[in-house]
Amino acid sequence: MSAPIPASASAAPATSAHDGRRQILVTSALPYANGQIHIGHMVEYIQTDIWVRTLRMHGHEVYYVGADDTHGTPIMLRAEKESTTPKQLIERVWKEHKRDFDSFGISFDNYYSTDAEENRVLCNTIYGALQQAGLIDARDIEQAYDPVKEMFLPDRFIKGECPKCGAKDQYGDNCEVCGSTYQPTELINPYSVVSGATPIRKTSTHYFFRLSDPRCEVFLRGWVSGLAQPEATNKMREWLGDQGEAKLADWDISRDSPYFGFEIPGAPGKCFYVWVDAPVGYYASFKNLADRIGLSFDDWVKSGSKAEQYHFIGKDILYFHTLFWPATLEFSGHRTPTNVFAHGFLTMDGAKMSKSRGTFITAQSVIDTGINPEWLRYYFAAKLNSTMEDIDLNLEDFQARVNSDLVGKYVNIASRAAGFLIKRFDGCVQDSAMHHALLADMRAAIPQIAAYYESREYGRALRTTMELADAVNAYVDTAKPWEQAKDQVNAVALHETCSVSLEAFRLLSLALKPVLPKLIEAVESFLSIAPLAWTDAGKPLSSASPVNAYKHLTTRIDPKQIEALLAANRESLQPCAEAAASAKAAVKKDAKQEAKEDVKHEESGVISIDDFAKVDLRIAKIVDCKAVEGSDKLLQLTLDIGEEKTRNVFSGIKSAYRPEDLVGRLTVMVANLAPRKMKFGMSEGMVLAVSATDEKAESGLYILESHSGTKPGMRVK
Ligand SMILES: [Zn+2]
Repeated sequence: MSAPIPASASAAPATSAHDGRRQILVTSALPYANGQIHIGHMVEYIQTDIWVRTLRMHGHEVYYVGADDTHGTPIMLRAEKESTTPKQLIERVWKEHKRDFDSFGISFDNYYSTDAEENRVLCNTIYGALQQAGLIDARDIEQAYDPVKEMFLPDRFIKGECPKCGAKDQYGDNCEVCGSTYQPTELINPYSVVSGATPIRKTSTHYFFRLSDPRCEVFLRGWVSGLAQPEATNKMREWLGDQGEAKLADWDISRDSPYFGFEIPGAPGKCFYVWVDAPVGYYASFKNLADRIGLSFDDWVKSGSKAEQYHFIGKDILYFHTLFWPATLEFSGHRTPTNVFAHGFLTMDGAKMSKSRGTFITAQSVIDTGINPEWLRYYFAAKLNSTMEDIDLNLEDFQARVNSDLVGKYVNIASRAAGFLIKRFDGCVQDSAMHHALLADMRAAIPQIAAYYESREYGRALRTTMELADAVNAYVDTAKPWEQAKDQVNAVALHETCSVSLEAFRLLSLALKPVLPKLIEAVESFLSIAPLAWTDAGKPLSSASPVNAYKHLTTRIDPKQIEALLAANRESLQPCAEAAASAKAAVKKDAKQEAKEDVKHEESGVISIDDFAKVDLRIAKIVDCKAVEGSDKLLQLTLDIGEEKTRNVFSGIKSAYRPEDLVGRLTVMVANLAPRKMKFGMSEGMVLAVSATDEKAESGLYILESHSGTKPGMRVK
């Protein structure tokens, strides 16, 4: 409890208004509009939200803005796959994301989209200023091009055989089997993930931000000294290299059409790379808000601004936020970030989150299972500190900690004291009890707890708070109000016990407010007090304002909810193709890690249950079957697997069956195999067949049949 405040918390902010009221702009990284929000993402929004709420409770002028990151090739291709337009796709995803953030109490002042007019204008202005400053270059580069789809291919959309070990289906930049890195041009038998065509080389003009310019290096060397996290500082020094080493490379900021994004002014057919307009999207969201509420946008973002600006991010995107973003701002007449705060990743039971284990938990599934999102806010906060260390979610520990801390230690204080106070004393506290020594100690601890939050040491803030809760419970156990209540002689003592308990409960609620905003709102209404701020530590409950009838504040976590949560996420197993289509760095990291785990098993020839669970096997009814013209091996099958549309699958079983004999039969198909473009059309899966080990043996091929009682779409496990 008397642990010193970390150094970074005691340091006064660089810019502070004369009345002590700071102006603070805060952002979280923009989630990509290509998928659902999962609890791994949520760690960052919860971390930011707790910080923002802490500062608002000091009375500062704080704006917390976010947006969906909407541009890029993956969005364009996914929209195409879903037979919709990118605009429609991002609109739908925006609504899902907004719903998830609202449910988790993420208090954005504005949640916007990078596909907005404000963003287009800001991108153009910033680009124009960088051009003026002589920091934009045009250069011809040679790139892989898909001649069928008529588009340039990002590395992530080219696969082939590894030039070092020959492993199949490796990405264009590194081999996930042997770990070697190489250029996409070195892949053997390369193919486009989009069309299956062999990529050709094609020259195109690209625009570059000249990060290698000595002015950028000089600026960044100065800016890095203000970073809060030693890990981030070290990483940046590594990127910058020694003085005069010129390690910074220019940044390719353009992409050729077709590309879902903003066209670059004066460069028809060229768009800004998504990583250009994503961070500018922070400002676009803030501009949209500022215009709406009558704030001077320029006062906040132009160079010389007195406001503070903070970005919360995952450690994987440090490069963009500590090199490109500050340099872009500096040389376009804007203020630069006051600080960038990076956090680690979320693991589940010490392992990477996994779709097959059901630990890839979506925000939606948490809500659907009836698990209170504030429980997760509490758990994550208890594990978070100011470093980039990964944090782990262990579901048993989660359940135990929430039940013991929030219900057992905290809420119980109110439920034990409120009954007596309302029944015996009309809900009025004993004013003299407000001077109790226990309460004085607690009030003295509040500023330190607030400081822990501000220095992002949430774990310490909550540990300190729970130590206070322990002290309160020890006080109640000693005073024994249930004994005191038995004899009218003890009425004054009972009144004191209940009054001290409830005031202690109010102070604990104040300490927990940034983490549990909804619960504390209910507490404020129960105690009949105004919304709590940090300065309220010294404003005790008063007999002049009786408390309201106690209503149940929260419930324990039921183990059944945890089971339901895992089950819900096992169901959401998604086709691998979807993961492959996402070019975001975080997803890429996941894929790499997964591949590394797979290798260990591959070496022994044994697969894990998780590997097997990745295969989505379904009962399929053959509703139509045709011979394929020009092929002596293939049959074209139309399969019903209980989905809205039937699947088209080509299968090499022509030698064993006449097409008409297969119609109406039930078989088993692999439903989550990446669709494959074949000479005769798209194959959307694979049916299981049995073959003799000697391929030349007669009637060596049989389609695997299912019992007639099974139904199309049933899962095979
Ligand atoms: Zn390899």
